[in-house]
This record gives sequence, structure tokens and C-alpha cells, in this order.
Amino acid sequence: MRIGIDFGGTNIKFGLFGEDGSTYKFSVKKLIDLRNTNALLLNLLEETKKFAGNEKILCGGLAIKGLINRNTGELINDVGAANEFAGINLQKLFSTKLNIPFVIDNDARSYAYGEWKFGAGKNFNSVIVITLGTGIGCAAVIDRKLFGSENPMSGVLGGHISIDRNGAECPCGNKGCLELYCSASSLEKKVLNKFPQLVEKENPLKTFFDESDSNDKYKSVANEFRENLALGIVNVVHAYGINRVILGGGLMNSHDKIIPVLTEIVKRRAWTVPKGNIEILPSQLEDKAACIGAAFLDR
Ligand SMILES: [Zn+2]
Repeated sequence: MRIGIDFGGTNIKFGLFGEDGSTYKFSVKKLIDLRNTNALLLNLLEETKKFAGNEKILCGGLAIKGLINRNTGELINDVGAANEFAGINLQKLFSTKLNIPFVIDNDARSYAYGEWKFGAGKNFNSVIVITLGTGIGCAAVIDRKLFGSENPMSGVLGGHISIDRNGAECPCGNKGCLELYCSASSLEKKVLNKFPQLVEKENPLKTFFDESDSNDKYKSVANEFRENLALGIVNVVHAYGINRVILGGGLMNSHDKIIPVLTEIVKRRAWTVPKGNIEILPSQLEDKAACIGAAFLDR
């Protein structure tokens, strides 16, 4: 049995997985004491121990947003307003407290690894995985290995590929970053701004996409979104030379309204041999992907 933890800021996901990737137990918890790093850490460790119970656990891993020194296991920068764990060696802490071999890695990389190993990517040697959430996560598995180098930024900056040199300024310093147009948050902001009638819907973006074929105003915004995302995907496909792309995040509730049109645009624009040799698939593991990926990362 392996334990995987996905630390998402306010929510934390725990999973216990068998060697074949089967889920033994999975749970999502809200953490308390978010303002105080020490209390947060204690809470996190306590919840982990509680979740693991008396199960015999061989090893584990933690997926977390931010940049990680993979040689030491130290979180260099958690790239958020809180930056709670910067400078703390979570890898060492978890392996000591849980008394098992433990690894820590970036959440997009963990997600990609999980999705490749047990999800939509399991039949391919190489895949690009892009998650559309608060921001855009990007990572790739190349020849059955999670792509990366000593530089913690390597492979994860797909959301900051520019699709418009005259575009809006991004906090990263670049202009027109893909993330500014195609993250779930940026799309939601735009959609709710343009169509305030959707605010009251339970899932505004789902309703937006569901009605996008019959409502011309919705359709035009949906088309723009798919065009922008296609541009980003073509760039990443060209950068890696990989023509299998998996998309994750809550937006994939509407994958039937997003992926077919998106795939047609990418097929026309990406340089592949033969032309049109592109496959774009929705995530299969969704919420669990980063958790299971972290549990199985190379160690
Ligand atoms: Zn940027």
C-alpha cells in the first residue's frame, strides 16, 4: 500500500493505493489553522496519520503547488500569496514522522505522472498533461519518464507560453500568457462578467458550455476560448514533439463541448507527420491524479 497526499492550499486530498493503482481509500479534507505555518504542518501530519490508520504503508509522496528542489526535497517557493512552506523540507519531515520513504514534487508533475501511469495516458510512452484550474499546470512524460531537470521550473511553465505579444501583463513578467485566457478561473471571470445571468447557476461554466451550441453569444466566447487553448497546445506540442495531450481540471466536466473542436484546430495547426496525428483526451483520474502520481513518483 502507498499513501499519496495532494496539498492544494485549502483542501487536502489523501489516498491509499495498491501497487496496481487501485484505490483503497480516498478522502478530501479542509485544513484548519491556515495562518500559522507550524499549526498547519502539525494539522497536516496529524490528518495524514489519522488517514493512514493502522495500514501497512510502504512509501508515500506529497504533491504541492510550487517549486521543489528534487535533490533535497525542500520547497523553494510555493508561488502563492501564503508561501507557507517555503524553506521547509517537507520530504524529510514526512519520511521521519511517518517512518517511510517519502518524496515531494510539484502538483502538475504529480498529476501528469498519475494520469500517465494509471489514467488516460497509460497506453502511451509520452504524453503532455495540462490542467486548467486556478492557473494552468503543465508537465510531460517522455519515453515513460517524467520530464524534468535540476531546474525546478523545467517542463512546468506551459501556462506561461505567450499566445499574444500585445496581450495583458502577467504577474510572471511576460505578456499574453496562456493562463490569462484559458485557466478555469480566467474563463469563469470572463463568462460571469459577460453573462451575469449565469452567476446563480450551480456550475456556471458547465451551463455556459452546455448552452454554447444554441446561444450565439456563448458560442462566440466558447470559440475564442477553444482557439486560445489550441494555440497554447500547438506551442507545447511543438516544444516537446509529443502529439498526445491530456487535459485535466474541473472544465473537463464539459470535455464533450471543448475537446472535439479543440482537436480539429490543433490538427490543422500542429506540425505532425502524418498531418493531423494529434490526440487530445480528458483526464480519467481527475481529483485523484496528483495524489496517485505522488504515491508512485520515482524515488
Ligand atoms: Zn505568465
